Amino acid sequence: MIATPLDLLTELTELYQDLHRHPELSFEEHRTAARVAAHLRALGCETVEGVGGTGVVGVLARGDGPTVLLRADIDALPVTEKTGLPYASVNDGVAHACGHDMHTTWLIGAATMLARHCTDWSGRVLLVFQPAEEIGRGARAMLDDGLYKRFGTPAVAFGQHVGPRPAGRIGYRNGVTMAAGDAIRIRLRGKGGHGSRPEAAVDPVVLAAATVLRLQTVVSREVAATDPVVLTVGSMHAGTKENIIPDEAELGLTLRSFEPAVRDRALAAIERIVRGEAATSGAPEPEVELLYSFPALVNDERAGDAVLAAFTAQFDRERLVPLPLIPASEDFGLLTDAGRVPAAYWFVGGSDPDAYAKAQAAGRIAENIPTNHSPYFAPVLDPTLATGVETLVAAALARLVR
Ligand code: ZN
Ligand code: ZN
Repeated sequence: MIATPLDLLTELTELYQDLHRHPELSFEEHRTAARVAAHLRALGCETVEGVGGTGVVGVLARGDGPTVLLRADIDALPVTEKTGLPYASVNDGVAHACGHDMHTTWLIGAATMLARHCTDWSGRVLLVFQPAEEIGRGARAMLDDGLYKRFGTPAVAFGQHVGPRPAGRIGYRNGVTMAAGDAIRIRLRGKGGHGSRPEAAVDPVVLAAATVLRLQTVVSREVAATDPVVLTVGSMHAGTKENIIPDEAELGLTLRSFEPAVRDRALAAIERIVRGEAATSGAPEPEVELLYSFPALVNDERAGDAVLAAFTAQFDRERLVPLPLIPASEDFGLLTDAGRVPAAYWFVGGSDPDAYAKAQAAGRIAENIPTNHSPYFAPVLDPTLATGVETLVAAALARLVR
């Protein structure tokens, strides 16, 4: 059994609250990276900063054995925190609303445990502190900066996320786990003019409205009920004044899917609808631009079984819960290097168990339990902190030589 010592938990609580108070946006995580690097150096890790921008890599090595990669993402979100916590963000309009401060703290905790407390292993542990997960570019940036060429290709990669489940619960599934994500920007062109003379203009506001409504039919009319897909138009911008017909309108979309063929079909439908609506309005050709995408996150069956066995030995049975498909996306999947590195990724609950039980009894989990990216999202520290440290250590030790 792995048990996080109390003095380490005190130290990790201080670290977590400091990171939470000072969130930094994607690729701007300079202060965070410096704190991480200082911790790693204090543990005697070989420590390299500036990998893929603001990424940090630590290496713990002890004799012969496989290389195990443990990954935490470190960036925050452009969200104004409303938790009212004493350690709430002091950076205006930036908050750790996805819990990456927890991930960072977990990984520092796991590194400390593997360096000082659970030392009966040999092999290498790659501690990867990845920037810019929220914009889907950090994992790619670290790989492009030679993560595996410089530090070795790992035998296995592990990652985890805090989420809106009762604190201390661990959610896991094998195979396809998280959705592929695509971010799409659409520029609809019209012809600007006076609001009193629409006959002399092509109105991109009406075109945008029609396009948004028609896009809802991609999921409802073009995809089988058995294929989960989400299509959300999350941004819509046009115009400056009530009596001016603007020149153009811009839409921002996110698409989530689990099967490549379904994704292809949805992407083609989006393009067809956007061009079709523009033609219907007599508007010029619109622009459809794929801003970024990442693949579905697929847990390797063997690596996953080994992790689950380690968790079963470490935790009481009722703390392990099977997960449904998660429509959120993660760039952790890129660290599998197109499936060459087996990987496993799991979830650790961070919600107040009493509040969760009450919400569940009232059938109001979605309404009452703040989820990742909400301005109210704030994991409770006990036992979330210790749980995420112990999951990482248990998974790593299961793969290292004992
Ligand atoms: Zn997020
Ligand atoms: Zn996240």
